[in-house]
Amino acid sequence: MESWRRRTLLKVIVLGDSGVGKTSLMNQYVSKKFSQQYKATIGADFLTKEVLIGDRLVTLQIWDTAGQERFQSLGVAFYRGADCCVLVYDVNVKRSFNTLDTWHDEFLNQAGPSDPQRFPFILVGNKIDLDGGSKRMVPEKKAREWCASKGDIPYFETSAKEDHNVDTAFLCIARLALEHEHDQDIYFKTVAEQVPDTEQTSGCAC
Ligand code: GDP
Ligand code: MG
Repeated sequence: MESWRRRTLLKVIVLGDSGVGKTSLMNQYVSKKFSQQYKATIGADFLTKEVLIGDRLVTLQIWDTAGQERFQSLGVAFYRGADCCVLVYDVNVKRSFNTLDTWHDEFLNQAGPSDPQRFPFILVGNKIDLDGGSKRMVPEKKAREWCASKGDIPYFETSAKEDHNVDTAFLCIARLALEHEHDQDIYFKTVAEQVPDTEQTSGCAC
């Protein structure tokens, strides 16, 4: 039996300083894998993940950098058509928090969304597991103040290593992007039995 299902494609980009755990967060979210080894990402690429949000089947296309974030030169193709943006810093590295303004501005300049005030961002403070939190340099309050100053961006503290809060953060950004999207839906024909694995969502704090 064939049926028509409505599918939405959302381009998610993940930005932040090198080493904060962007690739690890994506890998944990999409593949449930974590590697201690530091590997500069090779080749800008994306991973995809299907999620079910309400009755909407959503394909998240999550773009990773190829390590060019060191030079802040990610190129226009990386930003083009982004539906939402995940900003990441490392709670143990102050500098990675201080550069958030630059990443936020860089995104708005490069992607040029039509309504920058309402564009869906989330902020992720990663590596909260490190040394049981004893090396933490950025208090949660400071991060929340930054989020408030940017128009109430939702904030999540995560550990890609221990898979803490990772799903919640990505689901939140997907939901925000969905609310924000206009006409990027595509319709596709599918065989009902072949609906890909999906993840049922139960709601998030945003
Ligand atoms: P990227 O440059 O932002 O993509 O960062 P990576 O994902 O490559 O991570 C940089 C390093 O931090 C790697 O050695 C990871 O194993 C480590 N890392 C990433 N996330 C976490 C985390 O949540 N906790 C801990 N302890 N280490 C992490
Ligand atoms: Mg990386």
